[in-house]
Amino acid sequence: MRYVDEFRAPQLISRAGVEIRRLADHHYRIMEVCGGHTHAIYRFGLKDLLPENVELIHGPGCPVCVLPMGRIDDGLSLTAQPEFTFAAFGDMMRVPGTHGSPLEYKARGMDVRIVYSPADALKLARMNPEKHVVFFAIGFETTAPSTALTILRAKSEGLQNFTVFCNHVTIIPAIRAILDSPDMRLDGFVGPGHVSTVIGCRPYEWIAKDEGKPVVVSGFEPLDILQSIVMLLRQLRNGEAKVENQYKRVVPWEGNRAALRAIAEVFELRSYFEWRGLGFISQSALKIRKAYADWDAEQRFSVPGVRVTDPKAAQCGEVLKGVLKPSQCKLFGCECTPEQPVGALMVSSEGSCAAYYNYQHQKPVSISSAPVL
Ligand code: SF4
Repeated sequence: MRYVDEFRAPQLISRAGVEIRRLADHHYRIMEVCGGHTHAIYRFGLKDLLPENVELIHGPGCPVCVLPMGRIDDGLSLTAQPEFTFAAFGDMMRVPGTHGSPLEYKARGMDVRIVYSPADALKLARMNPEKHVVFFAIGFETTAPSTALTILRAKSEGLQNFTVFCNHVTIIPAIRAILDSPDMRLDGFVGPGHVSTVIGCRPYEWIAKDEGKPVVVSGFEPLDILQSIVMLLRQLRNGEAKVENQYKRVVPWEGNRAALRAIAEVFELRSYFEWRGLGFISQSALKIRKAYADWDAEQRFSVPGVRVTDPKAAQCGEVLKGVLKPSQCKLFGCECTPEQPVGALMVSSEGSCAAYYNYQHQKPVSISSAPVL
């Protein structure tokens, strides 16, 4: 298949592995920001192609995982009213809130629906005028444009039985919080691919300029990720720090202007937002502007504003910050599994605990006799 096979060619992957071993002259700690990269690394067994002195640290780029339990409780509190329908992506359905996950609420008779897009939720509202549909919006800048466009559509149609419970977050403040964290030493970043399709590469320039750390925006196929690590190691060996775009076939340097315009039209920055594991980060999330208050569940209805701490033994916060590996959490694989998750990192398709658990027996591609790139 075009654009897939050539990025999974075993010989090229092996050659990239050999080049990484050749370049790795120190112990390097590289953070892959995006949960999609974490999954690809474990799914394809790429971790085992790397030498021990190239350590991958898993970042906070899984929007489901960074959402604190209180926000889930707040969103689900609306389902207590029978005329409400709670609509969310499938990823959210098994994420535990204090009194159960959305799926458990559904089992108790609440109207909880899985949708594939905010437009699907809008369709539900159109088809069920007697109900009020609340779309539980999550995601980084990747998914914010589709939520924005759906709100614009709802406004243009004058649809009053549809609102959004907005949990969109922004990636740059989270990276800044990690770099400010005293217990974290990082040498460079594999930059997020999906977010960058919207924001482009320019917003990462301060990481190279002010923090002296290289960033390579990367695709999600095995060869994309290995090539990005090669590019990072080449910069580190040469004492350079710049932003490079490995994912040029998808990511424009300046981002997607139409998508950014839609975000700016509908959303503004919250003064602060709570992130699981990272605490409150200023200007790190989006809220719906007053001009669109009729489509904002938080402005139209009363939500309790719950704050909940994670179960004591759960170490989701440390894993999200990259301080602990998922398998170092005391609950990993015993009390916390994909079937019985304690934390969101074990549920989401981008969660690092789920990646470790699901792919822990994955075999790597052989690198034995490949020539150097
Ligand atoms: S194993 Fe479970 S409790 Fe531990 S960090 Fe992962 S998701 Fe959180």
